[in-house]
Amino acid sequence: MTDFVIPAPAQPSVAVEGSVARFPIRRVFCVGRNYAAHAREMGNDPTREPPFFFSKPADAVVPAASVVPYPSLTDNLHHEVELVVAIGRGGTDVEAADALALVWGYGVGVDLTRRDLQDVAKKMGRPWDWAKGFDASAPCSALRPVSALGGHPSAGRVWLEVNGDVRQDGDLRELIWPVADVIAHVSRAVALQPGDLIFTGTPAGVGALQPGDRVRGGVEGVATFEFEMGPRPR
Ligand code: MN
Repeated sequence: MTDFVIPAPAQPSVAVEGSVARFPIRRVFCVGRNYAAHAREMGNDPTREPPFFFSKPADAVVPAASVVPYPSLTDNLHHEVELVVAIGRGGTDVEAADALALVWGYGVGVDLTRRDLQDVAKKMGRPWDWAKGFDASAPCSALRPVSALGGHPSAGRVWLEVNGDVRQDGDLRELIWPVADVIAHVSRAVALQPGDLIFTGTPAGVGALQPGDRVRGGVEGVATFEFEMGPRPR
């Protein structure tokens, strides 16, 4: 056992449906603009340019349940509902045809975004970290293993509603880069490791959340979630 000079941080993890054992989180990678209609709503051309990525800290993942804290520094917190891929086997330079063998399971998450900070970062050519990687910025459902899903989801509704109003309503079939391609791309940039999560991008309809909002969503055949946004920090 390694000795540490301060208490070692807790291992971030996410629940697994129907199990007391949890999935340990190593890193969180997120795909930008992976649905054409969302790329267009953000003012970009969705023609197949290579996918791009950003990261969130592993401990940004919190349960998409109960109350999710409303973050500091924003007046424009956006929801982005996304299929989440949980990597169970590592790989480097993986071919898309082999990529799904790395997947342990799937869930659904929300890539919470301080859109106002992101707009400034884009304008100034600055990093997105403060817009994307804040505390509790990645609410996530319990994961389900591929074995329990009966295979890898490639179609199905990806949806999110706020206070009963449907805001996002897409389908996995609309992914510009399907899961296997996303994994192949990430594995060329870094060595994928067990415990890595990949948020695969969001369909159109992103918008602002207010303190007290009831947020529900899901990926058909994978998982659903429901949580409330907490109060604005003092
Ligand atoms: Mn996103």
